[in-house]
Formats: sequence, C-alpha cells, structure tokens
Amino acid sequence: MDVTKIKQWLELFTVKVNAEKAYLSDLDGAIGDGDHGMNMARGTTAMQEALLEKNPETAADIFKVAGMTLVSKVGGASGPLYGSAFISMAKAATSSEDMAEILAAGLEGIQKRGKAEVGEKTMVDTWAPSIEALKNDELTADKITEIVNATKDIKATKGRASYLGDRSIGHLDPGAVSSGYLFATLLEAEV
Ligand code: ADP
Ligand code: MG
Ligand code: MG
Repeated sequence: MDVTKIKQWLELFTVKVNAEKAYLSDLDGAIGDGDHGMNMARGTTAMQEALLEKNPETAADIFKVAGMTLVSKVGGASGPLYGSAFISMAKAATSSEDMAEILAAGLEGIQKRGKAEVGEKTMVDTWAPSIEALKNDELTADKITEIVNATKDIKATKGRASYLGDRSIGHLDPGAVSSGYLFATLLEAEV
C-alpha cells in the first residue's frame, strides 16, 4: 500500500474535521450534548501529532498509532468507536492491501464495540453503505453526501440521540457526518 497516500488521507481528514469543528458540534447540539466537533478536533489533532512524532512506516502501524491516539484523546462515545475502527484496520492491513476489505474490518470493530446495526442513526450508517459502494467501485463525493443525508430521516436508537426518540428525526447524525469526511478524504487522497 502507498504509505504516503495513507498519511495524506489522515492529514486531510484532520484538516477537514478541524475546519468543520463548529458545524459538527452544532449538529451534536441538536440531538446530543454538543461536543462532537470538539472531541473529533482534539482527537485528530493528537493523531496527527503522534503520526509526525512516531513516523510509522507501514499501513498497519499508521492505523495502529491513529487508533491508539483516538481512543485515548477523543473522549465521548466516538473516541472508542473511531479508535476500535482504526485498531481493527491495523490488524486487517497486516494481511490485506484492499482498502474496502480493511475498512470492512474497521466497521466490524465499530459494531463489536458499539453494537449498532445499520438504521440506528450512527456512524455505522455512513460506514456500511460507503464500504459497499467502494467495493462496487461506486464511491464518489456525491454518493457520500447522499449516504450522510439519509441519516436525517432515521430515528436514533443508539447513542445519546436515542434519548430524543422521534425528535431525533429530521437531524443529521454528527458521527455519520464526520465519518463522511473520512470517506471523502479517502477519495481525495486517492488511497
Ligand atoms: P458523545 O455522544 O459521548 O458526546 P460524540 O458526540 O463525540 O460522543 O459522538 C456522537 C456520535 O457517536 C453519534 O453521532 C454517533 O454517530 C456515534 N455513536 C454513538 N453511539 C454509537 C454506537 N453505539 N455505535 C456507533 N456509533 C455510535
Ligand atoms: Mg456528543
Ligand atoms: Mg459527550
């Protein structure tokens, strides 16, 4: 795998999350506790610092550093979930070079940790269809937008937003939006 592209990907993700920090927190303010942007900005910035400091040289090591940092620095539900994703991706990257396969392992990590299925208004609703599209060579920026926007109509049954019940309908899921940035920057970096 092209290690430089993977590093570029995570750097682009960090820049995007930091640029959209206020927006992500506003989304979370509507159906959660308003900290998703802060959580993700803190976590990705720490991830970027750790990557520069440790300078891992394989895809597996890059994902491992990313995952360990996200678990310890993000806080909130999303930290352990993104962290589990990257740690599972690190394991998969030791035996696969296929990005869709590696991301599928990441999704498994998220689901093992958070027990959410598709249709519960979480980041899983971005990861699952995005990976499916990537497998079919159909993942585009527009497709990602469509996938993320579809979380609006879902009633949350996992995470903080589930406390709102029907009132969660009509709002984007913040973790699905930040995950959309992860897949969009994957395309930008041409990993
Ligand atoms: P917290 O809810 O602890 O404040 P964040 O605001 O950082 O954490 O993250 C909220 C996001 O985490 C949600 O928008 C959702 O996408 C995701 N999330 C919450 N619970 C789960 C879960 N069980 N499985 C998958 N994703 C989840
Ligand atoms: Mg929150
Ligand atoms: Mg919180």
